[in-house]
Amino acid sequence: MGKRKSRAKPPPKKRMDKLDTVFCCPFCNHGSSVECRIDLKNLIGEASCRICLETFSTAVNALTEPIDIYSEWIDECERVNNPEEDNANHYEDDNASRYRYDEEE
Ligand SMILES: [Zn+2]
Repeated sequence: MGKRKSRAKPPPKKRMDKLDTVFCCPFCNHGSSVECRIDLKNLIGEASCRICLETFSTAVNALTEPIDIYSEWIDECERVNNPEEDNANHYEDDNASRYRYDEEE
């Protein structure tokens, strides 16, 4: 029909809910035993479990939220557990992005 508008910028994520900073531990499965801390001076985010004392740290930036650190930790755990599935996912992603188009008018 009309012209296709292409917008480079994706809409910013909006989260109105209060952010969680405690999560379920992927190692001991204890609910709400993982706390995330963000050190913006050193740009390091750390998640640690107060029950089994597992820790994970990663590089952060000013936009990183506790949930981001936690989900990276989960990703890391899954990668270690299923090294082969990672490759399979890459294949599917390639196809999916080919067909995805912004259809909103
Ligand atoms: Zn734990």
